[in-house]
Order: sequence, then C-alpha cells, then structure tokens
Amino acid sequence: MFEQRLNRVRTAMAAADVDVLMLSVGPDLPWLIGYEAMPLERLTMLVVTADGRADLVIPQFEVPRVVERPDVFSVVGWSETEDPVAIVADLAGGADRAAIGDHTWSRFLVALQGALPATTWVAAGSITGPLRAVKEAHEVARLSAAAAGVDRVANALQSGEIPLIGRTEADVSAELGRRILAEGHAVVNFAIVAAGENAASPHHHAGSRVIRAGEVVLCDFGGTTEEPEGQPGYCSDITRCVYTGEPPAEFREAYDALQDAQRRAVAAAVVGAPAESVDKVARDRLAEADLDRWFLHRLGHGIGVEAHEDPYLVAGNQDPLDAGNAFSIEPGFYIADRWGARIEDIVVATDDGPRPLNAADHDLAVVEA
Ligand code: ZN
Ligand code: ZN
Ligand code: ZN
Repeated sequence: MFEQRLNRVRTAMAAADVDVLMLSVGPDLPWLIGYEAMPLERLTMLVVTADGRADLVIPQFEVPRVVERPDVFSVVGWSETEDPVAIVADLAGGADRAAIGDHTWSRFLVALQGALPATTWVAAGSITGPLRAVKEAHEVARLSAAAAGVDRVANALQSGEIPLIGRTEADVSAELGRRILAEGHAVVNFAIVAAGENAASPHHHAGSRVIRAGEVVLCDFGGTTEEPEGQPGYCSDITRCVYTGEPPAEFREAYDALQDAQRRAVAAAVVGAPAESVDKVARDRLAEADLDRWFLHRLGHGIGVEAHEDPYLVAGNQDPLDAGNAFSIEPGFYIADRWGARIEDIVVATDDGPRPLNAADHDLAVVEA
C-alpha cells in the first residue's frame, strides 16, 4: 500500500517537474509512509527524490517510534548536536524544484531556503492533494467505519439518550467527545454544540450557555479513527440538529427546505459533476425558501486522513468529481441572533452513484429532556 502510494507520488513529481519532496508534520507523511512526525522543535522530515530514494530524517531517539518499512523508506537518525537541515539539504542534492509539506513550519522552510539558495519551492499539496483525494477501497472502508461510529453517537443524541435541557453546551460537547472515543476513534477533532442563537455561528465554540427547553441544538462532531501502529487514522464528521420540544412552524419549514437541499445535493454528487455544481444544487433549493442568503459557507470539503482536504465543493471549483472522492455535503442556514441549522453527511462518489456513509436519521429530532 505505502509502496504504491510512493510510486504514485513519484509519477506526480515527474509530471510536475519536482525533483524532491519534503514532508514533515501534518497528514501527508502518515498517509505516505504510516509515520506521523512529532510536532516539536526537532526536525522530522521525509526526503523523497526523483531517483527513487526516500529517507526519513528523524531525531535518533525517536527512531524506536517508527514502524520501519525498508522497502519503502530508509531511516536517517540525527544526534542532538547534528544539524538536521544540513542533512536534508544534502539529501536534496541541489534540487531545482522542491515540494515542501503544506504544514511544515516556516522556520524549517526558511532554513532550507538558506541552505538551498538555487532551489524553487512549491507546496507539496499540489502533488499529494489530488492523490489523497481519490480513496482506495480500504480507505473508504475506514471512512465508513468512522461514519458508523459517529452515527451511533448521533442516534443517542436524536433518541434523547443524551440529556440536553439544563446542561451547558460544553458539558454536552464533552459527552459527545467521550462517546466518539468509545466508538473507535483515537482522538476527537471537534464537538460543536450550539444552542438557540448560538446555532447561527457555524463554528461556534461550545461554552457555558445552558440549553433550555424550546430551542434548536446543532451538534457537529467528528474524530480520527484508532488504527494499528504505523497506519494512519481516518476522519469522521457529522452534523445533526435536535429541537428541545416542539419547534415553531417557521423553523420546521426552514428545516424541511434544508433537508431537501441536502438530499438533492447528495443525489447530485455523481462522478463527473463539477464540484461547484453540487454546491449550486443545494444553494438553489435554499433560494426557493429564501434561505440562500443565510447559507454562509461552501457546501462541503473532502475528508480522509485530514478532516478537511481536497476536493472542496465550492463555487469556482470546476474540477469534476472522481470515483473515490470522499467529501461532506453540509448545507446550513444561519440567522444571526435567532437560530440556525445544518445537516452534514460524508458521501463517496462511485461509478454506481453517490454513496452516503452516514445513515443517522436526517429528520429534525424532537427531544423532551
Ligand atoms: Zn466547518
Ligand atoms: Zn462537521
Ligand atoms: Zn464538515
């Protein structure tokens, strides 16, 4: 698997006329070799050259953390008094064009630019992004398992098993987090709980606001799956809304339009459809209910080893969806000082049509506790 990924990376490097690829912290590295760099001040960097070498430059005392794959990459440990930037520059061997990981800290890039003054630099995402966006079958299986995990948490929320009224958003958020971990995730990436007027802020930070009877509670949560050592985890991401009591007719009407917009957008996410066309389907449906001006963000984002990655479903992105693309479909409306709602599923574009990975009920759940 990692060997095949490395081969695809090398092919993409050649097509982009890139002589060397350098990856440090961030999701590209675990995706490519199964090792995640520690986000600390000591440099860890994989150096992939066009001639077929791949060397992981890593602090010597962190070498025991590495699941070694000698057929994929070599390990180059550096001791406390060595200069890792010089080692990387040496391995790069005066490359004309280098691609450097999007998440690499600028202090290392600046030092490398000093050590390799003749080299031009591009973002590694231009090489890895399009490759990571097309999921392999086992990646879809892991995304599906992640989705099933958060679906069960959503079920508990919608059935009233997770009490809401009288608790703070932060308290409910913490409970969602515990349940996400219990469902096979290694980490919680976020657990947004936004009650009443807070639901009008798409990325609301769950706080001390107490949830009352008679309001919407928007919950958007996800994590990264637990995997065997040396295998990258995959992300989940779901949004469901519940109402604490019978919702007013005006809210229900708006929610029904949103639910229809979400359903139509999922159906429109077919292989070959331009990414922006799927966004437009949801936006046009919301316009019929005069809600499009409150749909403040793009329709969706790709998902994989990273919670947000290519492809982005947004006006201006004309790239056609490929079989194997996995992305969120998450229209919403956000009316300041009043309320908001969002419905989010992860969907995979396949040759047999769009395949939603989330199955939790899309109706507005009414809970009485
Ligand atoms: Zn978001
Ligand atoms: Zn989300
Ligand atoms: Zn999302």
